[in-house]
Amino acid sequence: MKVIRIVSVALALSCSVAGRPALADTRVVMLGTGTPVPDHQRAGAGVAVVYNDKAYLFDVGYGVVQRAIEASQRLGIAALAPVNVGRLFFTHLHGDHTLDYAELVSTYWWRRPSQIRVWGPRGLGAMTEGMYAMMDQDVSIRLEGSQPIVNRDAYRVSATEIEEGPVLEEDGLVIEAFEVSHGDVTPAFGYRITTPEKTIVISGDTAYSPKLVEAATGVDILIHETISEEGLSGLEDVWQQYHLRAHTPTGALARIAEAARPKLLVITHVLHYAAPVESALTEVQALYDGEIVLADDLDVF
Ligand SMILES: [Zn+2]
Repeated sequence: MKVIRIVSVALALSCSVAGRPALADTRVVMLGTGTPVPDHQRAGAGVAVVYNDKAYLFDVGYGVVQRAIEASQRLGIAALAPVNVGRLFFTHLHGDHTLDYAELVSTYWWRRPSQIRVWGPRGLGAMTEGMYAMMDQDVSIRLEGSQPIVNRDAYRVSATEIEEGPVLEEDGLVIEAFEVSHGDVTPAFGYRITTPEKTIVISGDTAYSPKLVEAATGVDILIHETISEEGLSGLEDVWQQYHLRAHTPTGALARIAEAARPKLLVITHVLHYAAPVESALTEVQALYDGEIVLADDLDVF
């Protein structure tokens, strides 16, 4: 039942851009819909916006690179082959959003034509230096040996620590960062991506954030994290308090959606603990009547 509904939403959205050049078509590919809680069906956090034959990745949690390879080989989205990914944006530096950073940068790097450009919050530079240290043996062996290398600098990235505001503008696409409220993590960002066809907002990890409501008002797609209130209610008080400072319970997400009225709300990164993951969807649906999808890995919108 759920799969049929997802397909119909995806078709409805793709029909709205029918007739435009295929290269400029804007697609959202869910590369990872999981959380820090291990789940064999869900990779860590990762969303790709594919536009103009380029992939713009937002977070690379554990398993996201494997999902990108699946998207390139099974869904035919060539821009998501690791050597073709050239732009990466971090919402924040929790491991469930970063653990595949080294995997992305080092996978087949000797075949990569150019360096990956990376944007993210304060701390990105230090994390990147740590990644180089991890890769050092691989890089030294390959560079100093007999292996052909397409670009001898491609194991390094071009990393920029950002503040809130415009981040990138190219080929008619605009990416802006806004600060969100993720408990102990400062800064943590959400992103607003605008192309000629679609406006997309990615919440990152956040509690209720007025800036997000402002950024998401009237967008085509709002991709938002949540925590199931049924799941939350089964936790010890100390965990409930910790999560409420950092994440958006389903009731608050329904209020955000009601205020912003996105054409499509995509729920991802669902903390649900002992409750079924679907509880997040039904809890939001009980309070909000707009179009909603509970995302799975490799869903395309
Ligand atoms: Zn997270």
